[in-house]
Amino acid sequence: MQTDVKWVSTMQLTWVLICFALSVKTVSAAEWCYQSQVSCNSTCSGPDVWQTVSQQCGGRSQSPVNIVTRKTFKDERLTPLQFNGYQEASNVHLMNNGHTVQLDLPPGIVISGGHLAANYKAIQLHLHWGKDGSPGSEHTIDGEQFPMEMHIVHIKEDYSSLSQAVMDPSGIAVLGFFFQESLSENKKYAPLVDALKQIIKPSSNATLPGVSLEMLIPPQSSLKKYFRYDGSLTTPNCAEAVVWTLFESTIPLSWSQLSAFWQLQFPEETEMIQTYRPVQPLNDRPVFYSEGNAALVSWVLLVMSLLLSTV
Ligand SMILES: [Zn+2]
Repeated sequence: MQTDVKWVSTMQLTWVLICFALSVKTVSAAEWCYQSQVSCNSTCSGPDVWQTVSQQCGGRSQSPVNIVTRKTFKDERLTPLQFNGYQEASNVHLMNNGHTVQLDLPPGIVISGGHLAANYKAIQLHLHWGKDGSPGSEHTIDGEQFPMEMHIVHIKEDYSSLSQAVMDPSGIAVLGFFFQESLSENKKYAPLVDALKQIIKPSSNATLPGVSLEMLIPPQSSLKKYFRYDGSLTTPNCAEAVVWTLFESTIPLSWSQLSAFWQLQFPEETEMIQTYRPVQPLNDRPVFYSEGNAALVSWVLLVMSLLLSTV
């Protein structure tokens, strides 16, 4: 890893000097990207060398991670979350921010419960995807990578910005949702997928009328099972300030809906694909799993034992 960092840094420095000598303007090597690029048109640092952009990216509690389900700890304190304001429809601002598609969320969307340390308000959501049908989620479950992953980013209610929240080890709560390819179209996603045509170029934006978060996530009744661990933002500055909640229930999207995301463009006007960070070492962090229907299971066991005792 250290050798990679030195090699890429040396390459970048060499190119910057060559381009400087040729008086060609370059993008600074301090810019991060998903695939390292070293040329006169674009010099940016890929995930292997993000710690040169922000030291925190080399920390010991980074995200995403692979979750090994048999090594997770069941935790009965992980009760179902409360989703307030998720039902409210409003006009949402959508943009190509050069790294992904981002929806800025209106005030009044708050999550609580589920053993979270506080109430957290939603500020934005964005997605991570692959390329031509290859997987593109950031987290993996037992090594399985999903076609796409959505992150709804929340900060503690008392904070006014993400930059304030990153100073607190539990300042940010991200809800992660995995997608799965389906044969039929997901009609609830049609307005978002259609609007992608308006934001193909970086820095372009669009307004999505009448959208609620409830439309974009699985029904609440299927969100009882989830994984929880402490990690980081998955893009620089990689602040280790995130309480992660990853839901087991997936969101279906058809092939043509998934492929609409691959049409977007990075700042270099190349296809916006493989917008995910590879999994990071878990190190000594525990991953917890909500009991889900455990109450029902124990109730059934109790009834069965009572019946057997009467035989
Ligand atoms: Zn993300």
